[in-house]
Parts: sequence; structure tokens; C-alpha cells
Amino acid sequence: MTIQTDADASATAAQQLRDALGDRIILSGDPAYDLVRLPWNLAIDQRPFAVAQPESAEDVVDVVRAAAASGLRVAPQSTGHGAAALADTDLSNVVLVSLAKLRGVTVHPEAQRAMVLGGSQWNDVVEAAAPFGMTALHGSAGDVGVVGYALSGGLSFYARAHGLAVNAVRAVQLVTADGRIVRATADDEPELFWAVRGGSGAFGIVVSLEIDLLAVADVFAGMLLWDASRASEVAHAWSAWTTDAPESASTSLRVMHFPPMPELPPFLSGRSVVVIDGAILESDAAASALLEPLRALEPEVDTFARIPAPALVQVHMDPPEPAPAFSAGAMLRSFPAEAVDAWVAAATTTPVLFIAEVRHVGGAAARRPDGAGAIGSVEGEYLLAGIAMVPALELAEPALAAAHTVVAAMEEWHAPALALTFIDGGVDRALGFGAALERLQQLKAEWDPADLFAAGQPVG
Ligand SMILES: Cc1cc2nc3c(=O)[nH]c(=O)nc-3n(C[C@H](O)[C@H](O)[C@H](O)COP(=O)(O)OP(=O)(O)OC[C@H]3O[C@@H](n4cnc5c(N)ncnc54)[C@H](O)[C@@H]3O)c2cc1C
Repeated sequence: MTIQTDADASATAAQQLRDALGDRIILSGDPAYDLVRLPWNLAIDQRPFAVAQPESAEDVVDVVRAAAASGLRVAPQSTGHGAAALADTDLSNVVLVSLAKLRGVTVHPEAQRAMVLGGSQWNDVVEAAAPFGMTALHGSAGDVGVVGYALSGGLSFYARAHGLAVNAVRAVQLVTADGRIVRATADDEPELFWAVRGGSGAFGIVVSLEIDLLAVADVFAGMLLWDASRASEVAHAWSAWTTDAPESASTSLRVMHFPPMPELPPFLSGRSVVVIDGAILESDAAASALLEPLRALEPEVDTFARIPAPALVQVHMDPPEPAPAFSAGAMLRSFPAEAVDAWVAAATTTPVLFIAEVRHVGGAAARRPDGAGAIGSVEGEYLLAGIAMVPALELAEPALAAAHTVVAAMEEWHAPALALTFIDGGVDRALGFGAALERLQQLKAEWDPADLFAAGQPVG
């Protein structure tokens, strides 16, 4: 009698993948493995069973079928910005499907719509849309993946006026667990269309999306910056300002701590600063009038001005390259004076390379439109996030602890909700899916009964 060991089973699965996919599969012993397995978030040392980098929808079908036939699971990943969320999942039996080579955008200006391939990044979309005087509901960083962001909600600097990015999704084409390419829209496979708009990678590998664009060619946007010694004064002023700011204004408040770093501009290097930034969808005169109380605090840097829409991805100063980071987040019901005091105390006493952020949400982002999917709105007026950059992996634990400390300090004001795109694990994910969770789990059982797909935000 031969006893089948784990090692035998692994060797068999590896051979089956190699037979089915040839050099389209990269196994852990292959020279390219250490390069292709790395996510954008370099703090996450993900080591999947194998990696595939499909270049077409048909390639994706082949990979899904081969992985399922080999008894392995499949995890879609576009950029790895959300890799910390996937880090809770055992990847030792998972084929990581990196969509990095499946990028491209076609704009249909007459329909104000874009067809976006599954691995595309927001920069791809805003650059393709700009010649038509259009843009999209992208987030603060241009190199974030469209699918990972949009299908988990997606909070942009247009969110208070135009809602979550997920509501701009009109069609999703995905490879499902049975290895078929399925198009889901409000009319075709409407239940799957509902589920994937929130359930994201738990339902399949998205090979393309159709999204509505915004007819916005330029935008009044920028940032105001002060030394962190002004944090309390600035935070109180911003909190009061946001209580009656119109929905045309989506802004953020941050305390940022940086060690001396040659790659940073002098106003950031070696400094702790407090920053307000965002976009105001008004005329220059109306936007300037709105900003007056904040400008009256005499920021040392003031870049608010009308800028071409694609430049909005620079305003938040997110890292331009892959970086090691851990974050934690919560939604806040409100941000009154006592909450501001608690936040400032927490935000100004964190380690270096730490960003404490409060984003003004609410408005259209808190309203669920007709026909929305599993996620269509996010409850709470403000988003709270603590983001710790991790200069060395030994510092991962204190970095994550610092992010959770800032979130815990604000517990009294937490809303019973989470913005899924800002969840990294270690929290009750059910809060992110809210009332949709049960139906999502039923549909997951129908569409993926063997739990083939491992998602950053699992619905199970
Ligand atoms: C610097 C930075 C700035 C950010 N700014 C914002 C912001 O302004 N607003 C906001 O809402 N969020 C923001 N985020 C959070 C970001 O939206 C999430 O991390 C999101 O998951 C990233 O999507 P991705 O595809 O790039 O990441 P990935 O790690 O590649 O994907 C995340 C998950 O999405 C799913 N997925 C990705 N691609 C596919 C696919 N083709 N098919 C099926 N499933 C797929 C998978 O389940 C995967 O685990 C930011 C994150 C960072 C690091």
C-alpha cells in the first residue's frame, strides 16, 4: 500500500498544473517565483503554491480550470494594494492569479462609459478618459487596481457628491468557479451582478468591467499644510467646517510623521505635519469662498487650485512605488470636539512613518441608490484610518499595533460599519458587508460551492 503524503499531493498538483499550463504557471521552485509573488504592499511576504499571470480572459479560464482540477484554490490579485487583507488566508494551496498583464481601457465617450480590463489601474482609466473631458471615481492613488477598489466600494474625492465607485459599475465579466466566462449586469445574471458588487474576488476572477465615467475635465483640488504643532487648532477647525460643508466637498484631515528621507520634499522630510486635502466640485470663486475659514489659519503650503482631473491622483501624496504598510480603520458616526481631542492625542503620539487620517464621507456615499449591489453605501459621516509604514519587517507588530491604537482611541464614536477597502484583517469583516452578508453567503454557496476563490475580503 502506498501512503500519499502532503509532499506527494503537492508534487502531483504541481505536475498537473505544469502539464495543463506549461510555462504559464510559475511554481515555488521556479526562478521567477520570488519576483512575481510580491504584492504592492511589501510588508506582506505572500508565498502562494504557484503564480499565474494571464494575458487574456481565455488564459484565466485555463488557470481556473487547471487549479480546480489539481485540488487547489485560486486568489485573484491586480496590484496587491490589498494584500494585507489576503494575509489572513493560508496560501499554501492557492494559485495566485496576478492580473498585472491584463490591463487596458477603451472609452465610449458617447455613452460616458469605459470598458476596463481586469488588471487595470486607475491611472489607466483617468489617462484614457481625459482626452474626452472625463474622469472616474478613482481613489487617492493612481496605481490602485480598478477591480479591487471598485468592487469593494471605493471612496474617492468625488464620493460625497457622486457616491461609492461600486455604483458606477454597469457590467462585470468574470471567470466563475466552473471555468466559464460569465457577463453579469442588471439584466444578465442579476443575482451574480448584485453579489460581485461588494463580494468582489469571492465570486470569480474579473476579466473586465464597464464603468460610468464623470463628465469632469478639471477640478478644484489641493492641500493645505501646517506643522503638527498646529494639529489641535487645525483639526477642530476642519471638524467644525465639515459639519456644514456641501456635498460638493470631499476632504481629508491627516497628521503625518516622516523621518528624514531624501526622496521626500523638504516640507515633509524629517517632519510631523497636519494636512487637509481633497476636491471641491464648485467654481473657483465658490470653492475659494468655502475654503476661507481654513485658509485663515495661514497654512505654510496651500496648493488648492483648478487642476486637470488626472492630477487629482497626486494630491494625497500616496507612495508612488510599492511600499510596506499596515493599516486599520473604522467608520465614525460623528467627529465632535471631544472626538477631535481624542484623535489629536492619538495621532500626534504615534511612531515615525505613521499617518493618522480622518476622511469626510457621508453625503451621496451614505445613500444607497436604487439597483445597488451588495455594497451600495457606507454608513457613518467620517472614515478613520491609521496607516503605518514598516521600514523593516521586524517592526510589523508595533506598526500594526500603532494603527489599531489610533482606531481604538476613537471607539466611542465608531459607527456599526466598516469601509471594506480600508479593512486589512484582524477585525469583524461582517461589519463591512452589513445586511448583505447572509445573501452573499447563499450566493457564494451557489456560484462557488467548493470555495475555490480566496478573496481579500471573504464573505464566508
Ligand atoms: C496607497 C493606497 C491608497 C488607497 N486609497 C484608497 C482610496 O482613496 N479609497 C479607497 O476606497 N481605497 C483606497 N485604498 C484601498 C484599496 O482600494 C484596496 O486596498 C483595494 O483592495 C485595492 O485594490 P487592488 O486591486 O489594487 O488590490 P489587490 O490586492 O490586487 O486586490 C484586492 C482584492 O480585490 C480582489 N480583486 C482584485 N482584482 C481582482 C480581479 N481582477 N478579479 C477578482 N477580484 C479581484 C481580490 O479579492 C483581492 O484580494 C488605498 C490603498 C492604498 C495602499
